[in-house]
Amino acid sequence: MQSDDAAHLGTWHNQRRNPLMHERMLTLVPKAQPQMEDLIQKAARDLARSEYAIALTGAGISTESGIRDFRGPSGIWTKDPSAERRAYQSYERFLEDPREWWKERLTSKGPFGDVEKLEPNSGHHALVELERLGILKCVITQNIDGLHEKAGTKNLVEYHGSALKLRCTLCSSRFGRDQFDLYRLMRDDRLPPLCPTCGGILKTDSVAFGEPIPSDVSRRSLEETWKCDLMLICGTSAVVYPFAQLPRIARENKFARKGMMTGSGSPADENLEPVTIIEVNAEPTPLTREGVSDYLIQGKTGEILPKIVERVKSRDS
Ligand code: NAD
Repeated sequence: MQSDDAAHLGTWHNQRRNPLMHERMLTLVPKAQPQMEDLIQKAARDLARSEYAIALTGAGISTESGIRDFRGPSGIWTKDPSAERRAYQSYERFLEDPREWWKERLTSKGPFGDVEKLEPNSGHHALVELERLGILKCVITQNIDGLHEKAGTKNLVEYHGSALKLRCTLCSSRFGRDQFDLYRLMRDDRLPPLCPTCGGILKTDSVAFGEPIPSDVSRRSLEETWKCDLMLICGTSAVVYPFAQLPRIARENKFARKGMMTGSGSPADENLEPVTIIEVNAEPTPLTREGVSDYLIQGKTGEILPKIVERVKSRDS
């Protein structure tokens, strides 16, 4: 993992290699490296001033609940690259033979173990608190572990679905996994489970690699991204697409709106600021290096997010 200094130097060098980004970089890279506490303070101020803040989260926010990420230093795929290759074949196998796919799921131990038994950590709770304060309007998560919902987040988009639900491949209805006795269906040779609404084949709601993002989820995520003026990105390597496109869409959308208002003859709104994009992550990501995010607070979400909430609250009191 790189130090804070290295993270910002990395940003600087990457941007300098791209002349188009150079001008913007000059405004993004601080002359002196801000201390972690300063950045936490800055994030609290940005959040308190925002009108429509949303959070994007990834596997990193759940590592402190005991569920491993994929690409972090101790990630499942970092330690076992063959698991990544197998994951990429899973959806093909489902399409070819859903019955065998289900059997395989029910007889092998998944990479995350027993997700029902996991508990949310202080990072998840901090986001709930920001929502309760009326600052955070929505959480869009890549995680399939159900921990945001368990923590109490209300406006939640599970971009890659949930391991605790099943989804119909035909009508997209979702059902709790506990509504079905899957092991009994296997014993009775009645797999795959079928949709009680339309009779279509049910799959786990979690989206496999190569599987399209369900359109309801994709549409809601885009709507929230277009609306936001602040995006708090927590614990993601930001390399899985199309999810990793959302920060770029937010960044470009605000610039486009500003340009449109100036170019269309209507008065330019001087107050229309570009979106603020903040990353809280253990290491820099492509968003950090390409200058898509305004700043990175490098460290653990379970430690940094509660501190941000504390600062937001102390501003209020
Ligand atoms: P990733 O594994 O690619 O990246 C995780 C990032 O979080 C890394 O950059 C890592 O350094 C950082 N990180 C780890 N612990 C952290 C902590 N405590 N605080 C701050 N940062 C931390 O994960 P991704 O970007 O979410 O992409 C992986 C894909 O796999 C996702 O699409 C997701 O659906 C799935 N996945 C889900 C879970 C889960 O549901 N909990 C777990 C693993 C993978």
